[in-house]
Amino acid sequence: MKHMADSSPARTAMDHRDRMRPITLTEYFMGRDAEHSAELTGPLRHNAQLMVARANALLQRAGCACAVNSGWRPQAVNARLPNASPRSRHLTCEAIDLNDPCDRLDGWCMAHLDALESIGLWLEHPDATPGWCHVQIVPPRSRRRVFEP
Ligand SMILES: [Zn+2]
Repeated sequence: MKHMADSSPARTAMDHRDRMRPITLTEYFMGRDAEHSAELTGPLRHNAQLMVARANALLQRAGCACAVNSGWRPQAVNARLPNASPRSRHLTCEAIDLNDPCDRLDGWCMAHLDALESIGLWLEHPDATPGWCHVQIVPPRSRRRVFEP
């Protein structure tokens, strides 16, 4: 069966631009670098740069445009989140949650673990992240590419 495609040039150009727009460090810090600047040390900034670069590499390979759901979490912010681990990698700028309402990115990751490995990312199991995708730049204690929280 043949489907009618929306081939309007303006629409196509916009979709393309949206898809290719990378995540920025500013989006990763979520404005928290102003209020909690003392906590954001040099090593944390370095981690954040790696995290954002690897997240962008993932999004490019998966062909996804995902907003940042949760980036850096200063101690006080993390403590206010009901289900956040006190040892969360978000505290050290080594993890990111990408908005993934239909779990499309999670699904792509599960089908392309070799891509995660080559980029240098570890994935929290999609069952634990409904509506978002958590990846981190450091292995979990289990050393598994896909891990349970
Ligand atoms: Zn997370």
